[in-house]
Amino acid sequence: MNSIDLRLDQLRGPVPPTPHNARTIAALTTNPACARRAVMDSAGVDKRAVAARVGFPPPYGQSPFAITRTQSFEAQVKANGCAELLRMLREVLSLSIPEVAYQDLEEVAGNVSQEVRHTVARQVLGAAAAGLEDGGTLFDHPLLRLPVGGRQVFLEPDLIAFQYKGTFHVIEIKSFAVIDGQADGGKVAAAAVQSAVYVVALRRLLAELGHDPAAVSDRVVLVCPENFSNHAVATLIDVRRQLTVLNRQLARMTRIDSLLEPLDPGLTFDLAPDRDGKPTRPVGELCDALEHIPARYSPDCLSMCELSYFCRNEARGTTYALGRSVSEELGSVDSIHMALGLASGRLTPSPEQVEAAGVLQAAMRLRNECFGLPA
Ligand code: SF4
Repeated sequence: MNSIDLRLDQLRGPVPPTPHNARTIAALTTNPACARRAVMDSAGVDKRAVAARVGFPPPYGQSPFAITRTQSFEAQVKANGCAELLRMLREVLSLSIPEVAYQDLEEVAGNVSQEVRHTVARQVLGAAAAGLEDGGTLFDHPLLRLPVGGRQVFLEPDLIAFQYKGTFHVIEIKSFAVIDGQADGGKVAAAAVQSAVYVVALRRLLAELGHDPAAVSDRVVLVCPENFSNHAVATLIDVRRQLTVLNRQLARMTRIDSLLEPLDPGLTFDLAPDRDGKPTRPVGELCDALEHIPARYSPDCLSMCELSYFCRNEARGTTYALGRSVSEELGSVDSIHMALGLASGRLTPSPEQVEAAGVLQAAMRLRNECFGLPA
């Protein structure tokens, strides 16, 4: 174990790490400037438990009912050697596959170690990419790996990679409904980003093995229930745009060692649970630990980070709490108090604030006109 691993273990405390998944990587790349999330995710800290302990339980999360529904829908789609899935793949990809070989890579002869599972996934997918005769067709839960902030993270994907005549298709099974051909736009967008994370990881794996990464299609197959029934429907989604954004953001992310370097050596998010698992860590101490790592809150956080209520409260009064477009427009005007002072002329702008002050004063004039107030 190297010094970075030891440091991350100390940050997390003596509990098993919360693993990364496509959703956490998608969220990280959506807000790459947030060191707080990058550090806590790298350390595998249970952000949900930390947020609850400091009095800001997360605003969202899958209910046990939704998790059960997702699992039973996935089991249904994969039943009988993925018979239903194959029916849909023949339709959506216009494929004719008389026979398929299905491989479940969720465990290897009873061994569920991530290293072992990843090694086997590499061998199996490499053989398929090489076009070996018994290379396989359907791969259930292959464990992929992706470097994030300079550290390799395993992805515990809920996917099947499908290979036919040299092309891999990532397949994402979701339990939200498609009603009359339409699904919730936000959920489809989130599924597209998560699928794109798998495409990036699978392409990287093929490249490492000396195969053409373009063998992984940039069109993913989304499988959902149709019209509130258990009947499944598959749709092809083009994730080229998501791939461009993800690759750019992953390349821009700060390395974890640089983020750890300025932190207090004693810093930890250990909740010090008692015998019943209830956290005993003083709330004030935990808040101090959170505030020790700089964050970059934006309203987008509300839909993707367990700490969002805490960070929103902390960011109260700042202009970046109003969203990325506002903070970009206002540049170095970083507080609402300052923005109001510049808008009303109470404060004199510094040279770098002159442009933003002009925008604010124009907005103030417009507002006063609308309300019939003196200019
Ligand atoms: S909620 Fe807080 S920790 Fe999470 S991404 Fe936003 S600013 Fe970072």
